[in-house]
Amino acid sequence: MTPDIKSLTREELETRFVTWEQPVYRVKQLMDWLYVQRVTDWDAMSNLPKTLREKLRAEFSLGTLELVRKQGSRDTTQKFLWKLADGAFIESVLIPANPSLYGEGSDRHTLCVSTQVGCAYGCKFCASGLDGWKRNLLPHEIVEQVMGVERFCAAAAQAEPAAPVAAKTSSSFPGTRIVDNVVIMGMGEPLANYNNLLQALRLLNSPWGGRIGARKITVSTSGLAPQIRKLADEPEQFSLALSLHGATDEVRNRIMPVNKKYPLRELTAALDYYQAKRGRFITFEYILIAGVNDSLDQTQPLAALAQRLSAKVNLIPYNKVEDLPWQRPAEAACERFAAALRQHKIVTTLRREKGHDIDAACGQLRLKTAREFAGATSAPTK
Ligand code: SAH
Ligand code: SF4
Repeated sequence: MTPDIKSLTREELETRFVTWEQPVYRVKQLMDWLYVQRVTDWDAMSNLPKTLREKLRAEFSLGTLELVRKQGSRDTTQKFLWKLADGAFIESVLIPANPSLYGEGSDRHTLCVSTQVGCAYGCKFCASGLDGWKRNLLPHEIVEQVMGVERFCAAAAQAEPAAPVAAKTSSSFPGTRIVDNVVIMGMGEPLANYNNLLQALRLLNSPWGGRIGARKITVSTSGLAPQIRKLADEPEQFSLALSLHGATDEVRNRIMPVNKKYPLRELTAALDYYQAKRGRFITFEYILIAGVNDSLDQTQPLAALAQRLSAKVNLIPYNKVEDLPWQRPAEAACERFAAALRQHKIVTTLRREKGHDIDAACGQLRLKTAREFAGATSAPTK
């Protein structure tokens, strides 16, 4: 299998072009076709000489993800189900302005991106790990989730120019974009696919690629301490969210097997390191699950952790997953928990779900639809 062109950085392509005795400015032209025009066909790259296009075609794939289902309507949360080249399914979720998700109010769109097919970490409340782990996504499969959504929205805007989202995307079609923020909170544990993740984030972040600021890209982890340290040492200022979901080892051990490997002492030491290197705010994500981690007893140690790490806390009422016993607490209990944290002077948001209705909340992606779909398409046709 040839490598995908969207897995290579500009520098890597420049090295290749030099060995091919091609002028380096051609890389800039190529990048423009890939990340600004977002073409899906070598022949569309009209300002590249035909011989170069043939060479590229021979050496690289130009893969796209096949959109097999989209749920939700424009201007609400939309879920995209993609089929990969090997037949695996992944999902991305496009979420309009959700201030509590990334801490600022605006009319922006956030795309929630997957990094693995399945997940090996098996958090007890999460749908993503129910079918186990299948494989890591390659860099271009991560990048293409953003490009695919951009393409889809640009085409939709062209088809219906009067719509509100269209106003944002149509002005200089096709180079404008809809995705302002990226959260790595889809299926999979991103830091367990570290190298591919970093390569993809660099491609999305760079001024010749996706042009999304590093601070607007948030990586969420269940708590892989060594990789958190590694991320702290990277030159880019990607944002970090920690899925805490319990402020004591006792609670975390019950719902997150990863805590046995990296207990809170080790995890917080890694976060101290990250904080010291970065001087940046971390976000704690804390799902509220009835009778598991929503007791007010947790608020004191949670506040202490947040204070120590200058973290803000994003409380997320649990989204029910079919087949799992966990429930979200009553709204009043969630409000009480938030108020107790605020009393400790912790910056706290209580997320009011968008997309709850279509089962699309970021972070609870489950391949249920994918399985149904696979069943439907693989049925013998007579
Ligand atoms: N593996 C990474 C990123 C993907 S999960 C991580 O765990 O951080 C993204 C977020 O969604 C995590 O905070 C996760 O705990 C949360 N999540 C998982 N299932 C959920 C559910 N049913 N309801 C609400 N949040 C959920
Ligand atoms: Fe994996 Fe994150 Fe789900 Fe845990 S919460 S099983 S790490 S995707």
